[in-house]
Amino acid sequence: MFQQVPAVKDLLRKCVRCGKCRSVCPIFKEIKTESAAPRSRVFLTQLLRDKELEPDSAVADRANKCLLCKSCTAECPSGIPVDQMVVAMRSYLKDYDNNTTKRRLVSTMFNDRKSLKRAHMLLQGYQATGLKHIVNKTGVLGLISKDLETANRLLAPVSGPIASKQITEKTPAAGKRQIKVGYFLGCATNIFYPERALATIEVLTKNGCEVVTPKDLQCCGLPHIASGETAAAASKTTHNFNLFYQAGVDVIISDCASCSSMLQGDYYDQLFEQGLPEEVKHFKDKIFDLNKFLTDVIDLNEDLAAIPKTTVTYHDPCHLINSQGIKDQPRKILNLVPGVELVEMEGADQCCGGAGTFGISHYDLSSKILERKISAIKDTNTDFVTTACPACSMQLGHGLSKHHMNSQVKHPVELLAAAYKAAEQTGKIS
Ligand code: SF4
Ligand code: SF4
Repeated sequence: MFQQVPAVKDLLRKCVRCGKCRSVCPIFKEIKTESAAPRSRVFLTQLLRDKELEPDSAVADRANKCLLCKSCTAECPSGIPVDQMVVAMRSYLKDYDNNTTKRRLVSTMFNDRKSLKRAHMLLQGYQATGLKHIVNKTGVLGLISKDLETANRLLAPVSGPIASKQITEKTPAAGKRQIKVGYFLGCATNIFYPERALATIEVLTKNGCEVVTPKDLQCCGLPHIASGETAAAASKTTHNFNLFYQAGVDVIISDCASCSSMLQGDYYDQLFEQGLPEEVKHFKDKIFDLNKFLTDVIDLNEDLAAIPKTTVTYHDPCHLINSQGIKDQPRKILNLVPGVELVEMEGADQCCGGAGTFGISHYDLSSKILERKISAIKDTNTDFVTTACPACSMQLGHGLSKHHMNSQVKHPVELLAAAYKAAEQTGKIS
């Protein structure tokens, strides 16, 4: 696959060395060496492709020191998709990647729904019995693996049953059905944020949507693509699209920024090379991020009642703002909820440093990026932080608890669902 990246040379020629990619790269901001600059990654891709550089674990490490945040790609005036070069490199270098914890997570927890349910059960037991507390105190995991210890710190608390257990395969619209929606319930939302998934269903059904949530959904494949497991990603995408095709849905919605950007085809070119059927292109226009769907596609039901007065700030997930150009829509939702006051944070569109498993494999670097974000959040002095990505939620939640801050992380849809509930309770709507 890597040998089939013919565009690299042309892309390099297009680079005018303006440095815009460097100015927005969160990794370059911390490391400050040219080898960490986005344009150097394109150069590295070419060296590898032309066999002028031998693959080894040091090169793999350079390829892995990237958040795939797409800030560079979004900013480059020559249209160079740097993140796609990085993905191509990772696929080529995957056998030289020494991060076993990350690779194990991707090949087990994100493999299928059975594995995810098993992981949920284990995590629930581990956290509920107080074993996590003992493990944290003794630092025993650190003796086995530093990354395992990091994963243990980063994973959000698991409370209550997994979302897929609480959601039926078909949820009827409240009132007249206007549209049949396929809900892509992502792995992290399913396991760590089930209340978010329930809020999504609630809001969609309140807006005339019949919601289909296929039981056999698999991971969107982004963790696999990010780890160089391109063939696994292609097989998951094919499987998921088949399920939605069979269900005959009009659109596919996701409340996870990473899932929706992946489903919309961020890395289709790589997936087509691995056998993803061309027909999935027909789906592309049917896939929406939840915020966009609610504000730009349907006439949102505005029968809302006030929730208790709350101040919130909003963090832009890279996979919404850089990948899908979605910035105003989540803010529109927040501004619609009576009782909510939105306070903008400094650098809301800057990456939080989470990037899925990046926080595990590069904890120190990820923490430096997170520190800037937490300081910006602190300055807003708000009750809640909102964002539209479970990976960002986990990273932000980790930062907030590290700083002993009481603020919680929510998705805008959770506040919207609460306003619908308040309207029901006040008898405003039935
Ligand atoms: S922004 Fe694009 S054109 Fe400018 S230096 Fe970076 S890769 Fe080259
Ligand atoms: S995707 Fe993000 S982290 Fe990676 S090179 Fe581009 S700006 Fe830097």
